[in-house]
Amino acid sequence: MSEPRFLIIGAGPAGTAAATVAASLGAQVSLVERTIFGGAAHLLDCIPSKTMVATALRLGAVGAAGRLGVVADEVMQVDTTKLTARIAAIRDQLSRGTIELLTSQAVELVTGTAHFTSQNQVEVTGAAGIRQIEFDIALIATGSDPRIPDWASFDGERILTTRQAYSLAAIPTKLVVIGSGVTGVEFTHIFSSLGARVSLIVSRQQVLPHRDPEVASVLEEDFLERGVVLHKGARASRIVRQGDEVLVECADGRAVRGSHALVAVGSVPNTSQLGLEAAAIATKNGNVVVDEWQRTSIPHVYAAGDVTGQHPLSSVAAMQGRKIALHALGERVTPIDHAKTAEAIFTEPEIAWVGLEEAAAAAQGRRVRITKVPFSANARATIQSRTRGFVKLITDPATHVLLGGTIVGHYASELISVIALAVQAKLRVDALAETLLVYPSLSEALNDAAE
Ligand SMILES: Cc1cc2nc3c(=O)[nH]c(=O)nc-3n(C[C@H](O)[C@H](O)[C@H](O)COP(=O)(O)OP(=O)(O)OC[C@H]3O[C@@H](n4cnc5c(N)ncnc54)[C@H](O)[C@@H]3O)c2cc1C
Repeated sequence: MSEPRFLIIGAGPAGTAAATVAASLGAQVSLVERTIFGGAAHLLDCIPSKTMVATALRLGAVGAAGRLGVVADEVMQVDTTKLTARIAAIRDQLSRGTIELLTSQAVELVTGTAHFTSQNQVEVTGAAGIRQIEFDIALIATGSDPRIPDWASFDGERILTTRQAYSLAAIPTKLVVIGSGVTGVEFTHIFSSLGARVSLIVSRQQVLPHRDPEVASVLEEDFLERGVVLHKGARASRIVRQGDEVLVECADGRAVRGSHALVAVGSVPNTSQLGLEAAAIATKNGNVVVDEWQRTSIPHVYAAGDVTGQHPLSSVAAMQGRKIALHALGERVTPIDHAKTAEAIFTEPEIAWVGLEEAAAAAQGRRVRITKVPFSANARATIQSRTRGFVKLITDPATHVLLGGTIVGHYASELISVIALAVQAKLRVDALAETLLVYPSLSEALNDAAE
């Protein structure tokens, strides 16, 4: 039998990971992309926001260097032209790297917008014209775009979506951030570090409404210390520009003024123009419906990444893409266990978690053992003047198997890897307690929490 024709729509982490694995297994792979090879959500949001976090962190570290005996007399500030150029250079470099990798594996790259015309064919419209591509296996990996609510008059200058926030001519003097989920708090961290006075519209009574209240309170403490104004229990209902100002009105009558407003209220899956009805592919609330193997209602058509609405992370999208290629081409594979996904929020302190969380254990009525140690008891954190935060471990009291962990602290996004591996491998907590780690190190807090 000839090589299977594997068609992928969308070249983000999901599509590119699937393409490389499928090509290595001998499939004839075509990858269609309409915006940027490497992925729109990935290269136009995830990577730029992390690039800005890097600048914010460096500036914050220099600003706090006085505590470590460094005398820095000059006023620190950010050159937005250089920052914008750096964001563009990193984006372009990563996109070029993706293209080189894919072409080196003989993946056919097709530039254009695809939609299904049947269960075995898509039509691609691009600068080169219109083309039909037939397939044996297809993957929908079209990602998501930022949600654009109709109650805000976006102008790209002062009322901004997240994607418009990476190329500002100057740091806003007074920024109102709408949305206190992961993206909203990361932008609050970024712009308050870069010198903006930030007001954060928080729809509930804590930032990060779906996270452990202990985690949220450490972050709120940091925000308040850096002068962020938290408007709790407020829902933005209208944002308008008034000259050089923006006015954010909330449903309860509160009004917050600023020089700029940044709206971070989630994303929407890219399914509306895919012609899914022509292939009878089922959706729910706009997301493509999939089974545990990521198959859609049509078994030879798979879906992965943000378009499924499952777990919107680059890491998850890439893992799904890899597993789909293996499954579709007849290799042995296990479904993803979403409960064991390590996640992080890039604030200062960083927040990271994996596996079972305390609130989820309580909601399930599950008996667990919880141990928690603060970074204020850690020598390296004290030496580095980074003592805010804690390590919390959740263990099964009967088997002593580690079920989950949360870290709030410097480099939490890196430290969580050890716990992620332990949870994935179902290790007992004493394995972590008995691992001889470096002294002094932040990871020692994992030893302490495991004892
Ligand atoms: C502000 C922000 C910060 C984030 N930070 C992180 C982070 O720190 N860590 C993390 O893991 N995740 C992060 N994410 C999430 C991450 O970016 C996404 O989960 C990830 O990019 C999803 O990958 P994907 O392949 O599904 O989609 P994408 O990366 O969006 O790729 C999908 C591609 O499909 C293309 N496409 C769509 N429709 C068509 C069509 N009809 N024809 C052809 N091409 C099409 C799009 O142009 C796009 O390039 C962040 C997201 C945001 C918004």
